[in-house]
Amino acid sequence: MSKAIQAVRGMNDCLPGETNKWQMVENVLRRVAGNYGYAEIRMPIVESTALFKRGIGEVTDIVEKEMYTFDDRNGDSLTLRPEGTASCVRAGNQHGLLYNQEQRLWYMGPMFRHERPQKGRYRQFHQFGIETYGMASADIDAEVIMLSARLWRELGIEEFVTLELNSLGSNEDRANYRDALIAFLTANEDALDEDSKRRMHANPLRVLDSKNKDVQALLVNAPKLSEYLSEESSEHFAQLCTRLDAAGIKYVINERLVRGLDYYNRTVFEWVTDSLGAQGTVCAGGRYDGLVEQLGGKGTPAVGFALGIERLVLMLTELDKLQNIRATTDVYMVMVGENADMTGIKLAEQWRDEVSDIRIQVHCGGGKFNKQMKRADKSGATVAIILGESEIEQQVATVKYLRENKEQQTLPFNQVTTLLTELIKG
Ligand code: ATP
Ligand code: MG
Repeated sequence: MSKAIQAVRGMNDCLPGETNKWQMVENVLRRVAGNYGYAEIRMPIVESTALFKRGIGEVTDIVEKEMYTFDDRNGDSLTLRPEGTASCVRAGNQHGLLYNQEQRLWYMGPMFRHERPQKGRYRQFHQFGIETYGMASADIDAEVIMLSARLWRELGIEEFVTLELNSLGSNEDRANYRDALIAFLTANEDALDEDSKRRMHANPLRVLDSKNKDVQALLVNAPKLSEYLSEESSEHFAQLCTRLDAAGIKYVINERLVRGLDYYNRTVFEWVTDSLGAQGTVCAGGRYDGLVEQLGGKGTPAVGFALGIERLVLMLTELDKLQNIRATTDVYMVMVGENADMTGIKLAEQWRDEVSDIRIQVHCGGGKFNKQMKRADKSGATVAIILGESEIEQQVATVKYLRENKEQQTLPFNQVTTLLTELIKG
């Protein structure tokens, strides 16, 4: 026997049983994006490597060490997308969707990062993202955050997530802050780890994001970005906070929140949870007014976020919020005896015509009643519809409830439609 080939490490199959949960979550994400008038955009999974280098920033974890980059057969350098924002901007520029326009967009799909696989961290993972363009005032920052807050409410996890908020100010604000931060880090260089030392000059704000405990302890005394914000930036942040207060959305201001991607300015936020262990960020985003121009378009303000679907599904599972998910099958058709299966197949087709959302599995391969009932049970169906010789003779169906303690019924064929309609209403 030859050795079985396994999936690539960190890239998971989503098996039946899991896919139901994913579909439920995806439906909520789509519906809520729709509630705010957002349109779906679908971008390719592979892009030119230059897009991510220029968009995300050379000195970031993603570009330095996480990208799946390869030369295609013509020698062009391509990369499996590690995130959606750069692709979305590229698509918007390419098709003239951004300049002088307002766009509210969402996307969903796989992303790829070569990270150490662990709970909540994979090499292929899935994001749902929101991106808005053409709106510079804090009302859209608030809308995007309100949309995310609605997701948690709809999924029943609003008590288990916390919103962390910060403002990075403008490029100019950050340039001023940068000098002060470099001075502080230089004075304390001995206390820094290698990574932070290297980043100190190339991208000092990223040091604030360090996960190293000693570096974090040192940073308590570092100069604060909030003290370097211009009046406009402070005003924008104040307006956002006012709007969130008015919407009843609670937040914690975290001055050290800088995000791992370079394109953000002003608003940045993360939704964090302690239900997931180390991988505690479920959703993250902010404003990125410079990116459209940086990627070759004309200056267009932008705000968005991305949410990790694996982390969300894990969280929902751990909090036991995925119980009432509809099974794959509502009805399993059991057919025993002469002519029963031909009639059964025909009736199943008719019921699918009449009750468009019904899920009927028809038994295949014949066999004894007991064997077919076992299959019915295993299918997860709510009811078995049984057609035996006597049923065919009398043109009736026997309906047996598989999950509830309910008396079985015998109905004329033409009354089954009503029963099925009731059944899927729950
Ligand atoms: P982290 O700090 O956990 O590495 P990040 O800052 O790299 O996250 P973003 O680039 O902001 O993450 O992506 C947005 C969201 O996508 C994250 O909050 C997380 O929920 C999810 N995510 C990011 N990387 C992974 C991964 N490797 N596996 C699963 N989900 C991920
Ligand atoms: Mg990361």
